[in-house]
Amino acid sequence: MSIMTADKIPAALAQPYLDGLGSKQIRFQHCVACARAQTFAHDACQYCGSEQLTWNTSTGRGRVHAVTIVARAPSDLFRALAPYTLVVVEMEEGARVMGHAQPGVRIDDLVNATYFVHQGQTLIRFEK
Ligand SMILES: [Zn+2]
Repeated sequence: MSIMTADKIPAALAQPYLDGLGSKQIRFQHCVACARAQTFAHDACQYCGSEQLTWNTSTGRGRVHAVTIVARAPSDLFRALAPYTLVVVEMEEGARVMGHAQPGVRIDDLVNATYFVHQGQTLIRFEK
């Protein structure tokens, strides 16, 4: 499954996801046809191509799939936070979400999404 970031997809498609973060929720697209989940919005299901997609809200619980320590931030927005831990979490619903994480989390840890506001943007922080 490809991992996309919100800045790589059209704003209109990302808006329900971003609105969800503002409400401290992780939203994902659910495919009516094949019942699979994708985090970042597309016009069609990345698995079966169906255009019957609905938006669901995640429980916020998931399992860590990948961990990266970022020592040098890629943008001014994140420079003040470095070094920080980034994770890809597979949510209970099957969608994969990238977010910040509590230092020390490891692959396969069970985590919960919490949220923090940094320079006006609500960001995810996964904690054990
Ligand atoms: Zn599908």
